Amino acid sequence: MKEEYDIIVVGAGPAGSMAARFAAEKGVSVLMLEKDRDVGYPVRCGEAISKAGVEEFIDSNELWIKAHINKFSFIAPDETEVLLQFDSEQEGYVLERRIFDYELAKTAVNTGAQILTRTYVNGLLFDDDKVAGVKYEHNGEQKELKAKIVIAADGVESRVGRWAGLKTHIDFRDMECCTQITAANINVDPNTLYFYFGEEFAPEGYFWIFPKGDNIANIGLGVSGMIGKKKSAQSFLNSFMEKYYPQAPILTTIAGGVPSAVTLDKISAPGIALVGDAARQVNPLSGGGIASGMIGASIAGRIAGEAIKMNKLDHLLTYDKAWHDRLGRRHETFNRIKEGIFNFSDEKFNIIAHSINKIPFEKRTLGRVFRTALIKQPSLIIDIAKVFVI
Ligand SMILES: Cc1cc2nc3c(=O)[nH]c(=O)nc-3n(C[C@H](O)[C@H](O)[C@H](O)COP(=O)(O)OP(=O)(O)OC[C@H]3O[C@@H](n4cnc5c(N)ncnc54)[C@H](O)[C@@H]3O)c2cc1C
Repeated sequence: MKEEYDIIVVGAGPAGSMAARFAAEKGVSVLMLEKDRDVGYPVRCGEAISKAGVEEFIDSNELWIKAHINKFSFIAPDETEVLLQFDSEQEGYVLERRIFDYELAKTAVNTGAQILTRTYVNGLLFDDDKVAGVKYEHNGEQKELKAKIVIAADGVESRVGRWAGLKTHIDFRDMECCTQITAANINVDPNTLYFYFGEEFAPEGYFWIFPKGDNIANIGLGVSGMIGKKKSAQSFLNSFMEKYYPQAPILTTIAGGVPSAVTLDKISAPGIALVGDAARQVNPLSGGGIASGMIGASIAGRIAGEAIKMNKLDHLLTYDKAWHDRLGRRHETFNRIKEGIFNFSDEKFNIIAHSINKIPFEKRTLGRVFRTALIKQPSLIIDIAKVFVI
């Protein structure tokens, strides 16, 4: 341990590891602090990701791939199934995140970052108004450590940003309440992700079955905070399991929040940057945050490293724009599409499913599905065009 670091990263999830790695690549001293004993555990995730999202950062490896995905199945409230197939370029995975996160942390360590687990960051140090380090507890001892820059990668329940004075509040409606089980004896296609829509399954959200091989699957749902207040995500899950898989042994149960919103207004301030869930960099349409969090964190890590190297700490403040140019603006579009879909009635979902099924199977693309779904919402057509380049 050094007495002072150039950069301290709080949290060793996918975002933390990427921030640490890209900063360390610039040849500066980096320490990543993680409160849990093990990197990658406990897992709170459906573990689905696109191959492209992974391979921007790490070569695909069967060590942490549990399923190769080449089909999406969308299930309407009346149980009409819309099936969509992808070519190998658009393939996706269901991960074993426990191993994946660990491997990501190894890439950070291999570029020179240090990591300390069982280390709970519980405050910040300030130099005038600039963040200048962290307070933390390790092995029962309270300590302080200075850094020129702190990167907060402390996940959805992030407090570091708030301590730095950044506005991290998220509207209750935009916080998806999620619950998920991993269950056995789930006889689904091992290469398909299943998404269920409608009042019965997951109002203002969706229900998922993501296969993990050997008839094991992650089964869960997210509902908006407003719905979750009235009926818990767990009771939707219980009803589903009673109806479709009453005998399935349940291996794990998890619950957590997904910030399905646009990125925070400000994700950097003097001496601090926020990345991943802490910055609300989740894709608001899919709720996926692994790939986008890694992208945001890689940008922040690189810029933080450059700022130290140039001895120009203000350079860190260019991170907001760099993120918005790369993905933040696209997330604003996704968020508008999400708002459009949230308001659909069951009847509308059914009608859409029936009309999509009239498109020949080999001509169905994700773009066509969304265009058909939102054809009567002219205000959203431009957004859809922006995303899928019609
Ligand atoms: C039920 C559920 C299903 C999901 N499914 C998917 C999916 O299928 N695909 C997808 O892409 N995304 C999914 N997500 C979202 C995804 O899990 C997150 O977006 C992703 O994990 C964010 O990465 P992160 O590194 O920002 O945060 P995290 O992975 O949450 O990592 C934060 C780390 O910081 C540590 N930490 C927190 N506070 C402190 C502290 N004070 N001091 C030290 N360490 C601290 C934590 O222990 C943790 O290790 C899902 C989320 C949920 C809840």
